[in-house]
Amino acid sequence: MRPFEVKAHLAVGLAHAAPWATSLDGLLASEMWEDEKAAARDRGQYLEAAGPDEVPADLDLPLARCTLGGGDDWHWCATYAYPEDLADAPEIHHWSGRPDHRALEQLARYRPSVISDRQGRYRARQMPLLLTSTRTVLWRGVGDIDRVSATLALIDAIGKKRSQGEGQVLRWEVQPVDIDAWSAGHLHPNGHLGRLSPRICLQGRPTVETGGLGRGALRPPHMHRSRMREVCMPWTPQ
Ligand SMILES: [Zn+2]
Repeated sequence: MRPFEVKAHLAVGLAHAAPWATSLDGLLASEMWEDEKAAARDRGQYLEAAGPDEVPADLDLPLARCTLGGGDDWHWCATYAYPEDLADAPEIHHWSGRPDHRALEQLARYRPSVISDRQGRYRARQMPLLLTSTRTVLWRGVGDIDRVSATLALIDAIGKKRSQGEGQVLRWEVQPVDIDAWSAGHLHPNGHLGRLSPRICLQGRPTVETGGLGRGALRPPHMHRSRMREVCMPWTPQ
């Protein structure tokens, strides 16, 4: 386990939903989860994601853990993507979607006669999508460099809307970096906060700029409510 830096060379840039872009721990976790699901399918089993009332298991990511938060408030030592040569402020696009009623009919045994377009899980959506133009994005972390490289080599696109061609990765670079482990696990190269962190992680470091306080997921799976905490938000380039 040692401090390292990851660089993704991108075709154009990447799309993201939150003001900050893809986290390295999330990226590694989703790739490993896909692998585990594929292996289970080969054994004739089916792995399901944890339900809202279950506590999801933590995957064995090739990263060190920051345990300053104490108890279950630990997080992986890895940052969010830092655009190195930001062309401009993120461009705001929108995508829209509505359920395909014919597909639902085929999938479900019973379908109510009316599915509301205005409320509920199957409502029509008009969602913002932030597009950041940059040739490279950079992450830092602490972990097993060989395992991180091997896992990333399997990923050819990052961020949102990958199937529409966003976030295409041309090349990965992973190399050791000569900085202390706390900085590698928390800060962007410009010295500002690079990930969601419990407040205690920043104790005694008043010069680190953050994105303020808020509620967010401390570690993957980021969409699961058991991961939500009051945290310091990462600094974002604006
Ligand atoms: Zn921490």
